[in-house]
This record gives sequence, C-alpha cells and structure tokens, in this order.
Amino acid sequence: MGYKLTPQRRNILNVILEHEGEHLSTLEIYDLVKKDCPEIGLATVYRTLQLFEDIDIINRQNFDDGCNRYELADPEQDHQHHHLICVSCGKVSEMEDDLLEELEQEVKIKKGFEIINHKLKFFGYCEDCSNKMKRNGKKNV
Ligand SMILES: [Zn+2]
Ligand SMILES: [Zn+2]
Ligand SMILES: [Zn+2]
Repeated sequence: MGYKLTPQRRNILNVILEHEGEHLSTLEIYDLVKKDCPEIGLATVYRTLQLFEDIDIINRQNFDDGCNRYELADPEQDHQHHHLICVSCGKVSEMEDDLLEELEQEVKIKKGFEIINHKLKFFGYCEDCSNKMKRNGKKNV
C-alpha cells in the first residue's frame, strides 16, 4: 500500500483496533487518541477517518443517534454484518447470521430485481433493557 501511516494516523488506527466491536463515534475516537497524542486536533481525526474510509480500512455506520460511528472493515467480506440498536440505552450489538437469502430470492422472483447487497438495522430493546422493563412492569402492576 502506498499510504504512509504517520504516528497520528497510527494512533487513530490503534484506537479503532483496540475498541473493535464498539462502533466508536468521531468524538469518542478523538477523546481516546488525545490520551496518547494530546496535540492532535479534531480536524486531523476527521480527515484521517475519511481517508481510512476511502481506502476501506474502516466502515462508517449511522445508527440514527446523530453521529457517525466507525468499525473495522472486513476485507474478506463485501457484505457487512447487521446491527441491533437499543432505543433505550443506545447499545449496538451485531448480528452475524444473515437470514435474508430467502427474502432476496423472493424479491427476485416477484420483482425481477437482481439484488447485489442489502443494509439492515434493527431497532428495539436490548436484553438488559427489556429485562429491566419486565421487572419494572411487574413492580408497577
Ligand atoms: Zn438497552
Ligand atoms: Zn458492527
Ligand atoms: Zn445481510
């Protein structure tokens, strides 16, 4: 690869690597990078994330919480896993199984539409939050 990793860029990449699966936002990445690299500016973080996205090191995600979030791209897969987003605590978990092949077949048959990819987000309550609600619900009754 012809891209030079400056120490600042390496720091940003390390933060993303160390927090794999956490879907950090730009500001969260900035705060973490500042610990090792106090002189870094937010603009540099923005630009570096943009660069990493352009060269497919990371993927940008939007979970409708008003910020961009990033995770490592998997170079083996052009299809991304799907996300489960808790509307109560904001926790994002990942759904590795893809159960959509049958649905894609059906779309193809019914609409003649050749699907090349799909994106999917699930909104709801995570296990913790739904357990909490059940407990509270019982108390209130
Ligand atoms: Zn939750
Ligand atoms: Zn993810
Ligand atoms: Zn899928």
